[in-house]
Amino acid sequence: MSTFESLGIRAEILRSLGELGFEKPTPVQERTIPHLLSGEHDMVALAQTGTGKTAAFGIPLLERIDVQQRQVQALVLAPTRELCVQIAKDLTHFSSYLPGIHVVPVYGGASIRDQVRGIQRGANVVVATPGRLIDLLERGAVDLGNVRVAVLDEADEMLNMGFQEDITTILEKTPGTKRTWLFSATMGHEVRRIAGNYMHEPEEVSVGGGNKANADITHQYAVVMARDRYLALKRFVDADPAMFAIIFCRTKQETQELAEHLTKDGYNADALHGDLSQQQRDRVMARYRARNLQLLVATDVAARGIDVSNISHVVHFDLPGEVESYTHRSGRTGRAGKSGISLSIIGVRDLYKVRSLEQRLKVHFAYVKVPDGAEIMERQLLTFIGRIKEVQVDHDAVGRFLNEVALDLADLSREELIQRIVALEFNKFLKRYKEARDLNVDLAGKDRKPRTDRPMQEGNKPAFQRPTGPMRSMFINLGTKDGFDKGKMLGYLCGITGLTGQHFGRILLKDMYSFIDIDAARFDEVISHFRAANYKGRPVRVDEGGGATGAKDFKVVKKRFNKARHA
Ligand code: AMP
Repeated sequence: MSTFESLGIRAEILRSLGELGFEKPTPVQERTIPHLLSGEHDMVALAQTGTGKTAAFGIPLLERIDVQQRQVQALVLAPTRELCVQIAKDLTHFSSYLPGIHVVPVYGGASIRDQVRGIQRGANVVVATPGRLIDLLERGAVDLGNVRVAVLDEADEMLNMGFQEDITTILEKTPGTKRTWLFSATMGHEVRRIAGNYMHEPEEVSVGGGNKANADITHQYAVVMARDRYLALKRFVDADPAMFAIIFCRTKQETQELAEHLTKDGYNADALHGDLSQQQRDRVMARYRARNLQLLVATDVAARGIDVSNISHVVHFDLPGEVESYTHRSGRTGRAGKSGISLSIIGVRDLYKVRSLEQRLKVHFAYVKVPDGAEIMERQLLTFIGRIKEVQVDHDAVGRFLNEVALDLADLSREELIQRIVALEFNKFLKRYKEARDLNVDLAGKDRKPRTDRPMQEGNKPAFQRPTGPMRSMFINLGTKDGFDKGKMLGYLCGITGLTGQHFGRILLKDMYSFIDIDAARFDEVISHFRAANYKGRPVRVDEGGGATGAKDFKVVKKRFNKARHA
């Protein structure tokens, strides 16, 4: 096991690491820092969030800065404002004994003038979201001509969010002689393409394997009727009073509604999604970080880059369509050596998704039952007793009231007193769970992959019954150019919507778009699932189409499509 000293880090940085309580390097730091300090190579590091990757690139990056020069010598690109601020803070901490290092974070949603001033005051390290950096480049407010190191952090997330072109534009403004270090949790096709196009024979380091879930996370799933997922969620929360969780939904609307329901039912919950203003998001995050908020209900996009320690549970109220999203979601817990639970509350129809995640991530998902009333009350009781035992009594403050209280309660025996204290806490749960039914679905026979539930794989013949009722046609801006054939499209539709193949009819594929016939009764539901969908970094757009066979009002749809594309 190495120490930070043995990795060759200079004394000033070692001192800061000591003060931060970093005793020994994490595996990713152990494997990357020596290369990045001495090697002249580019690097691709496959590492999950929470593994200590900021220090893995941050320390060698700081060692390369010539503090005499007040030009931008290091550039870190990161997908979100949150992450930018976090990285800039970390770099500032690591360099607290290195005078002359000036780290400036730049990101959207904050005053661009202040950021320009920050850079002009002599920033030698800039940490940026791609969009804001492009703005600054267009204004001529930043010069990347002296960059020695460019870091692409959470590269897969940046690509998922559609920053591909921006990254290309930015890298083209940096000298060809610089080093490029790419950090990513997953190694998809797009990440490989960026590595291939913009890096020279990069060293590859993989910690814990690519596309793999973090080993400190226990993956669990509970199966209920889809309409009972909310009741099940509340039971899990009630059964674990110490839960500090992020709950993921797929759309902004679901996120908002779930948070509102929880609040109405007396839970300490709030929503985080893209329809909130930056100020509102900051407020929610500040409450969550300070643990004044127990349940953060979030969309995938809004929760990207969140680094809050000790999150005990990631709850998937809806399973995401893509494996990578599941990995990113669960990576919010189990950070920095802590363990965590990633719990999926699913309807029966989503069982195949759990099986598919197990195969792709090579992890076991443990089946857990939704707790029943008795279990919840028992756990609440134990926690309550634990609190009574541990509570600190301020004798000075309370002491002067005690005589009076003792007199008031003199008629009650010890047993009666205990009963009443317990009842005070428990009446709420008693009322809620007295006649609570079992929410678990009996899985016997259900855990086979139903023919109709199976997402189409390449080579699979579609094996579903065509719907016989009325149909409506949907237009979607994905086609053969995106790699779809009919089977893949059907698999994709089932994955996103959670519906089975029997709700979809004919599929007409064109190169850039497609038309799909959908069971009319499910049409609006299907459309709603695509509201916030992305495919390989591109927003997915859907609309009422002209018919998979005739595409009669195709011109109208195409016009709308083009308008949306240029919007
Ligand atoms: P990161 O993957 O960079 O987001 O780091 C995750 C968390 O681990 C952060 O809170 C870091 O402060 C912490 N951390 C990073 N490296 C170490 C280390 N060597 N020892 C202890 N904590 C660390």
